[in-house]
Amino acid sequence: MTVTDNYNRVINYLRLSVTDRCNLRCKYCVPRNALQDPVRRPILPYEDLFRLARESVSLGIRKIRVTGGEPLVRPGIVEFLERVNGLDAGPEIVLTTNGMLLKRMAAPLRQAGVKRLNISLDSLRAETFSVITAGGNLSMVLAGIDAAQDAGFPPPQINVVVLRGINDGEIPAFAAFAATSQLSIRFIEYMPISGETGWRSQYVPSHEVLEKIAREHRLTPVESVDGAGPAKYYELDGGPAKIGVISPISEHFCAQCNRIRISADGLARGCLLSEETTDLKPFLKQGDKAVREILIAIIRRKPKRHGISESEGWHADGWVPMSAIGG
Ligand code: SAM
Repeated sequence: MTVTDNYNRVINYLRLSVTDRCNLRCKYCVPRNALQDPVRRPILPYEDLFRLARESVSLGIRKIRVTGGEPLVRPGIVEFLERVNGLDAGPEIVLTTNGMLLKRMAAPLRQAGVKRLNISLDSLRAETFSVITAGGNLSMVLAGIDAAQDAGFPPPQINVVVLRGINDGEIPAFAAFAATSQLSIRFIEYMPISGETGWRSQYVPSHEVLEKIAREHRLTPVESVDGAGPAKYYELDGGPAKIGVISPISEHFCAQCNRIRISADGLARGCLLSEETTDLKPFLKQGDKAVREILIAIIRRKPKRHGISESEGWHADGWVPMSAIGG
């Protein structure tokens, strides 16, 4: 079965957040200058998250990205992933993590059937890393990256949110890191998800990132990379390392968007940057048929495109940190 939205996009990718808790406080994800604290709602039990995964898969979802908050801080995560991986249709299970707990969890995650990892790493300098993440430990993340490869994962994808004046000076260092480690690095444009004023002063467009790297390296556009999603990839100096850019602001990719999102508190979103949410909890109480019907309705009414642009920015009435939605 496949389900398409009203704009003929096939929706086959679910981003499922299992917790809004995180062991880091990245400044772009949980902004400290926000006027109010996010309202913390109870999160769904694993049984409900499993039912949502199962019913999504029955509607044609082929890939589930488990995210958070930090998914690895929720007790029982490995068993949950193993269960989702055991679903009949065999969805591809991938996971996004900050890597802090990966050293000890990489092997169990691999055994549970997780296919690939995305790891956030916003600085290669211990001090800057700690500032961006409010206390994160760079060497723990680097050890986690090594552990993932030792556990048999394909080279993890490294995600960097570029922030002017904070880590944009490290773009050449990240390119050098990609070249020596042979890991692929994706630079993500900072999104003012919480309606922050003054976001433009920190925002760095992807073309600037590529220009900086091209001063010292050869970048060759790559047609398509497995699991690339909205990223545009370039081979770095002939490969195998790649540089990717994700440009939700400067070059939105909504026409290719194939995903829906469910947050840990049971709110479904057709678009990361949409304020329209649907609370799935009442439907979970009604039964699996009701869950399937509402998921189809959410897919159908997925917005044509998001409303953030370089000129307009984005102004939400209320605000929800990315850590609560799942990025
Ligand atoms: N804790 C995990 C991690 O750190 O990767 C998963 C959750 S995090 C919310 C998922 C992704 O969202 C990360 O790659 C993060 O860099 C990205 N993200 C969060 N806030 C963002 C923002 N304001 N702009 C762009 N990307 C953001």
